Amino acid sequence: MSTTKVLEQLSEEQQQEKESLNLFLSTQTVIREALEKLEYSNELFELLKEPIRMLTVRIPVKMDDGSVKIFTGFRSQHNDAVGPTKGGVRFHPEVNEEEVKALSIWMSLKCGIADLPYGGGKGGIICDPRNMSFGELERLSRGYVRAISQIVGPTKDIPAPDVYTNSQIMAWMMDEYSRLREFDSPGFITGKPLVLGGSQGRETATARGVTICIEEAVKKKGIDLQGARIIVQGFGNAGSFLAKFMHDAGAKVIGISDAHGALYDPEGLDIDYLLDKRDSFGTVTNLFTNVISNQELLEKECDILVPAAISNQITVQNAHHIKASIVVEAANGPTTLEATKILDERGVLLVPDILASAGGVTVSYFEWVQNNQGYYWSEEEVADKLRKVMVDSFETIYQTSQAHEVDMRLAAYMVGIRKIAEASRFRGWV
Ligand code: GLU
Repeated sequence: MSTTKVLEQLSEEQQQEKESLNLFLSTQTVIREALEKLEYSNELFELLKEPIRMLTVRIPVKMDDGSVKIFTGFRSQHNDAVGPTKGGVRFHPEVNEEEVKALSIWMSLKCGIADLPYGGGKGGIICDPRNMSFGELERLSRGYVRAISQIVGPTKDIPAPDVYTNSQIMAWMMDEYSRLREFDSPGFITGKPLVLGGSQGRETATARGVTICIEEAVKKKGIDLQGARIIVQGFGNAGSFLAKFMHDAGAKVIGISDAHGALYDPEGLDIDYLLDKRDSFGTVTNLFTNVISNQELLEKECDILVPAAISNQITVQNAHHIKASIVVEAANGPTTLEATKILDERGVLLVPDILASAGGVTVSYFEWVQNNQGYYWSEEEVADKLRKVMVDSFETIYQTSQAHEVDMRLAAYMVGIRKIAEASRFRGWV
């Protein structure tokens, strides 16, 4: 490999780390603002500005070609005053420590918003599952669980799926943990296959939660969902199910995208066809020639824009060019703080990530409750309970934003942080 190539790669990595650091610092900024609005002490900010625990692990994995590769993984636990920490594990080449830290803080906030008895946690492994075999992924998943086993468990910290991890990976992790502890532990992890104690409705939960937020947001904006034009960036777990639900609800999905590019048709896309053609990583645009870029897609004319892919998509560069009147963040951190302000000033209703994507962890909580009681609920029961949580959370945050004259993101932080703050105070920590 040439030196320039190595330098290019280094600078890409550094760029990613810089973006993650910005995400983390912005999170701290909003936490400080929320605590000030709620008139909490500075000690509380000192406690909540960083995770209470961060573990970095090195995982040796035997690869199919006989070599051994060492992977780096993380598990961050933000705050456990409310209860055990909870949050997904992502497998991605761009995972880094700052990102995992920020994501664990957001999990605390999501759990606070949905009023779940958890604090936030998050994990990640630097790897590219798209280039790994089934066997390599299994050995990596099991190795990760062995490496973090001391700090996780059904009453300590409960992992779940996230970017590029799925129910099969959860099953391997659950099996590894159960072997280590020598008893079956379905409550160790959520997002499992149904036959291993998974919950009805978990796979579609994030998209269902986003759907409910869209339904509530259009009411506030006086837009009819029937025929409303929607663009969904990202065709993974959240984006693909969401496109389907919107299509079935009578909205017109006019744009979708994946990591390689975007498809756009003002007359509406054939969502069922695209779902049929997508691979397990949500890739579908490679089958088409009339592909535009993700950035172009975000700026197209539409009523509702749903960034459901990765972070830092709506920034100062494009916030002025977003045409949607509602932006619902299904991904974690797709809009920067500066862009949030621009959208708010332009009268765009932005439903923030920690509210819009809380459906996943909410049904994860239902899964854990079912595991603990050994009694399983019907799909309708799960759907009804999720609807209630999402509608109530949306309304509380909307009312908070109106009462305090703040944007929905700050309002969501205020709602999300209150329970952690109170629990930390009652425990006598601050
Ligand atoms: N990874 C999902 C999230 O970011 C779900 C977490 C969970 O179910 O615990 O919200």
